[in-house]
Amino acid sequence: MGMENPNLPNPSLRPSSAASPFLSSAPVVGSEASVFRPTPQASSQFPTPPFSSGPGVGSQGPTFRPPPPGRPNELVRPTPPPVSSSYGPPTTGFQHFQNPAMHSTGQGAPPLHTGQPVVPPGPPPTGPPAGPMTLAPVPILSQPQPPSIPMRFPDSTKTEQIHTNIPPSQPFSLSRPNVQPSSASMGPSYATGRGAFQPSFPGEANGRPNSVPQAPPMHPSSFSSQQGGYAPPAAASPFLAQQRSYGPAPSITPIGYPGAQMQHHGIAPPTATAQGLAEDFSSLSLGSAPGSFDAGLDAEALPRPLDGDVELKSLADMYPMNCSSTFLRLTTSGIPNSQSLASRWHLSLGAVVCPLAEAPAGEEVPVVNFATTGIIRCKRCRTYVNPYVTFTDNGRKWRCNMCSLLNDVQSDYFAHLDASGRRVDLDQRPELLKGSIELIAPAEYMVRPPMPPLFFFLIDVSISAAKSGVLEVVAQTIKSSLDSLPGYPRTQIGFITYDSTIHFYNMKSSLIQPQMMVISDLDDVFVPLPDDLLVNLSESRNVVEAFLDSLPSMFQDNMNVESAFGPALKAAFTVMSKLGGKVLIFQSTLPSLGVGRLRLRGDDIRVYGTDKEHLWRVPEDPFYKQMAADFTKFQISVNVYAFSDKYTDIASLGTLAKYTGGQVYYYPSFQSSIHKSKLTHELTRDLTRETAWEAVMRIRCSKGVRFTSYHGNFMLRSTDLLALPAVDCDKAYAAQLSLDETLLTTQTVYFQVALLYTSSSGERRIRVHTAAAPVVADLGEMYRLADTGAIVSMFSRLAIEKSLSYKLEDARNAVQIRIVKALREYRNLYAVQHRLSGRMIYPESLKFLPLYGLAFCKSTPLRGGYGDVQLDERSAAGFTMMALPVKKLLKLLYPNLVRVDDLLLKSYPQTDESDIIKMRLPLTVKSLDARGLYIFDDGFRFVIWFGGSISPDIGRKLLGEDFSGDYSKVSLSPRDNDMSIKLSKMLHKFRENDPSYYQLCHLVRQNEQPREGFFLLMNLVDDQNAGGSSYADWIMQLHRQVQQNA
Ligand SMILES: [Zn+2]
Repeated sequence: MGMENPNLPNPSLRPSSAASPFLSSAPVVGSEASVFRPTPQASSQFPTPPFSSGPGVGSQGPTFRPPPPGRPNELVRPTPPPVSSSYGPPTTGFQHFQNPAMHSTGQGAPPLHTGQPVVPPGPPPTGPPAGPMTLAPVPILSQPQPPSIPMRFPDSTKTEQIHTNIPPSQPFSLSRPNVQPSSASMGPSYATGRGAFQPSFPGEANGRPNSVPQAPPMHPSSFSSQQGGYAPPAAASPFLAQQRSYGPAPSITPIGYPGAQMQHHGIAPPTATAQGLAEDFSSLSLGSAPGSFDAGLDAEALPRPLDGDVELKSLADMYPMNCSSTFLRLTTSGIPNSQSLASRWHLSLGAVVCPLAEAPAGEEVPVVNFATTGIIRCKRCRTYVNPYVTFTDNGRKWRCNMCSLLNDVQSDYFAHLDASGRRVDLDQRPELLKGSIELIAPAEYMVRPPMPPLFFFLIDVSISAAKSGVLEVVAQTIKSSLDSLPGYPRTQIGFITYDSTIHFYNMKSSLIQPQMMVISDLDDVFVPLPDDLLVNLSESRNVVEAFLDSLPSMFQDNMNVESAFGPALKAAFTVMSKLGGKVLIFQSTLPSLGVGRLRLRGDDIRVYGTDKEHLWRVPEDPFYKQMAADFTKFQISVNVYAFSDKYTDIASLGTLAKYTGGQVYYYPSFQSSIHKSKLTHELTRDLTRETAWEAVMRIRCSKGVRFTSYHGNFMLRSTDLLALPAVDCDKAYAAQLSLDETLLTTQTVYFQVALLYTSSSGERRIRVHTAAAPVVADLGEMYRLADTGAIVSMFSRLAIEKSLSYKLEDARNAVQIRIVKALREYRNLYAVQHRLSGRMIYPESLKFLPLYGLAFCKSTPLRGGYGDVQLDERSAAGFTMMALPVKKLLKLLYPNLVRVDDLLLKSYPQTDESDIIKMRLPLTVKSLDARGLYIFDDGFRFVIWFGGSISPDIGRKLLGEDFSGDYSKVSLSPRDNDMSIKLSKMLHKFRENDPSYYQLCHLVRQNEQPREGFFLLMNLVDDQNAGGSSYADWIMQLHRQVQQNA
């Protein structure tokens, strides 16, 4: 309790900075901790002796053996599961379940022996012919348990049938001490003897031997206390005498005070940089007298990002060997040459990185194998060889672009230089040509054999789950994804279900049906059969399928309202900690029993608006952060799927995802009939997308600049190493940059992202993205090279983090203050010289920034107050946005609105998404014509708006007789007519182009409240709504503030 209060000292749990809740000083995952090496668990919740068997992970059998290096695709067909009787339940044990109490149904819970296997009911009638799930009467001998536990298996009629399928078996002799992981069990390959984090990641060693100790990342409060100033500590006054004497060319369009047009001027003032960059800025006419703003502004003329995310092209022209902006974007590519210049940049200096983004078509990342040569890196700063290194001395030396060290070219990497100084083999060297490459890492980049892909499912089966239909959808989706899970034939899988007790499933391949074992002692969870709870999927495929077929019916009549989530989570940790992997949690109610139980909170409305308000947005129980730290330490990533119609404390649950590189999926009030397709799509993607396992990421940069803080879903392992137990293309991370030196003397700064990971095929790989950016000497250049998308992404993360320590209002204000400061600074550059006093001026590169800022203040994590967004919804959105790649975030903030009725009526040749997107409309109610049909698409959902005067013909063709019905009950399904088919295709195409989430369709009729307001009107960013100003008013506010103290 109270752990979240930033004023309370708790070094082990309280975030010591915005970015690093588990800094190296924390005992949890300290820099001293060798994360790949499961150390004896001082903080473990499972203080038991180590495994007594198994010399190490790598010796657990062929299952855990990666294919030999160099043969990643060699498939080792699994041998047929041995038909062994050694693990079968004994018939004597089985007799126990003849107890008539087992046959009671409903809430009456039949007593069972704790730890004993119990009889799950059989599969549904449609189940496989193999028959019902096998009873697993395994006596757990090692630890006496209370004689009986309450247990209910609703469908007792199946038990008779089950009895017939019990294979002969022998009692287990596995003793409890064997359940625990330990350093000893990991074998020598798991640990190394070096210091700090280098033992864990020899290949990713920190390359700053000469640099000063890293300063701690900035405290979250800097966001407000510095009034938006994320400037480096040595920042000079933002208004120092750095004003450039140049200004835009005087040929500016005459100022029209009342004339309300916006003008973009392509003006090129003289610049100080060698590149001679042109400077663009725009201005907007505004009335200057207070109170007269409305009259002077034409809202329609304001800039809107109707073309989506338009990226800076000039940098790619300047540095064609840079990695694609899909992987790395800088908030400004003009890196300030001095700290005083940096201090005048209020838009956050830094990068947004999406290391595994899906590469643009035709730009697939080449794979490079240095084989016996070894990976070429700078011996001082450990930078990977890249297109910006230079070769000298007839090819015998290469100079590091980061630290300038002259490295020897080893003999087997040597090539002569031609007359122009190019290596003669350059064309065969992707690592010297491409900004993005993927290196095959040799053994020295491993501290243990590459882990197999591992999926563990933790499923709440309490009454809420049974009633909503979640179980059926989850079971079906997992089953249908089995063939597509990455990593065949090494993939591992396991399941735990829970309500007031925890249910384990023995999936050993020799079984025909899984055996279920129930543990009711929640205080000290005993994990039975740890070796058979996690199985090789291809070997145990039949048992896994039998389980998934049975799961929904097993609990369909479950009346248990409790959820022993925390104990189940710890059990999952115990099972997985040997290998790592992904745990997917399906939670349908508030965790109510055992450790980590949560309580209803956030309903005291008086707290809102006070300095305690943020406490509802962070976990109350330190259990969640502690578990997240433990999971990360053992390479386990957590994804949370939450379904409740009531408060579930997503703030706490999501913490597990936040610090383990995971993701939160939220389906409030899940109903299978409505949400099935969304859950199916998103779970399928989660299971089947390419995943990088046991990863760490570091972003290097040239001497003189330094990344100081990181923002996203991960845990910081040392000052600059991000621990990412699992990464995929849908995850992005932001990092803020500051200048180490007062003055940069170089002309270019380089960045290099290195992600060291294990691929699903069992290869250790390093993905390397390299980019260069010019060092600039004036603020105008920084503005000109600004990237609104990266800035918005950074701002969003900073503001969401701020909302975890401050009031929502403070977080919103901080966004506004930063924009104002930036615009004011820009104004100081140009306005005076050109007598633009009555105009709002802004850089062309940032023309959408104010609008995105407004959209962000109206977004779910920051919007309004208590009554505007439910607490869980707010938390879930915050966790989601912290991980979104830039384009996805921009679309969420300023969604697509298109009118489609004309397209449906006309014989439109084909549904070409790119054409339709060109018809995007401003997000205002003025865009809506009562005769039209519109699609609103924010990437997470579609809202289909039917105008009040829409042709009944269109309505009937799309909805049939439901056209005049209650749209909350109507779903859009394809009908047998051109128009309906065309609309379906269009939506399908939209989804195909934006696949990370599934967009459910919500139908809305004009003036049908509150539905129209909730789904559409509230999200029309340009209008006054969601507790926020209209776009025009917002611009007025900004302008007024910019002029103050200008
Ligand atoms: Zn170097």
